[in-house]
Amino acid sequence: MDFTEPALRPPQEAHSLLLRATQGCTYNDCNFCYVSRGYPFMAVTPEQMEQEVLSQKPFFRPDTTIYLTGSNPFALSAEKLEEYLIVLRRHFPHFRELSMQSRIDDISRKSREELLHLHKMGLAQLYIGTENGNDAVLRLMNKGYTSADAVEQLHRLDDAGIAYTTFYIIGMGGRGVGTTSGKATAAMFNQVHPRRITTTGMTVFPHTPLADMARDGLFVEASEREKIEELLVFLEHLSVDTFYDGIHYLNPLNYRFANSNEMEKSRVLDDIRETLQTCSDEELEKMVNRKLMHSL
Ligand code: SF4
Repeated sequence: MDFTEPALRPPQEAHSLLLRATQGCTYNDCNFCYVSRGYPFMAVTPEQMEQEVLSQKPFFRPDTTIYLTGSNPFALSAEKLEEYLIVLRRHFPHFRELSMQSRIDDISRKSREELLHLHKMGLAQLYIGTENGNDAVLRLMNKGYTSADAVEQLHRLDDAGIAYTTFYIIGMGGRGVGTTSGKATAAMFNQVHPRRITTTGMTVFPHTPLADMARDGLFVEASEREKIEELLVFLEHLSVDTFYDGIHYLNPLNYRFANSNEMEKSRVLDDIRETLQTCSDEELEKMVNRKLMHSL
């Protein structure tokens, strides 16, 4: 295969069999994105996937979980994904779960029957960059769909039995909209059933349209205090039974807990409030070295 993009995976897939499925992103147009920029979208053939599976097979248990790498392999047609799944079942008939990343509009292009069939064959979970529930922020970042689109497509996954982990970017709207975004994002997730919500703090990476917007004064980064306030409002309003995972080097505060665990959640909320009360703006700014990312 001629892939040049480094293969990435979510931290939760550290022990899975990682197989290269695609490189690049079929959309490639989110203003903040630095991940797949410059890499043309390409997919392996089922034969190439089989070669890769054979080379990895001796190192994994028969009931392994499997992760297909790439920014949105779920953009591939249901027929192509089925061909991959046939290869996987041939060599790992008892694999536990297959996961991969998807955009919201990759789901909308599949019929209910296709979603049900892929789930039956082993597609267990999608990782989805929902990013934010504030439509003005989604537009600003040119995400390509609205929060209502996200809710509609996540309901279709619920219907098909496909689980999903969602990504939420705190501070994505820049200065002045943190509280609105926190509430809107909680309201979006409260309507669906994410297995897990992971968060990361908005960062302006170089060589992105967002870096140009920041240079031209069209985007002003939220302070770390505002990002923490957004997180607090988000968690206060989040009521769905899910797992919150905010362990990430771009988050000023790192927590991980089941949202149904009221004692633990209350402890986390108290900790966030205390941090906001006791730390100066300067101390909060030092919690993440975002400046280092700006200069990469
Ligand atoms: S969908 Fe994901 S990978 Fe594609 S441009 Fe947007 S953030 Fe980047």
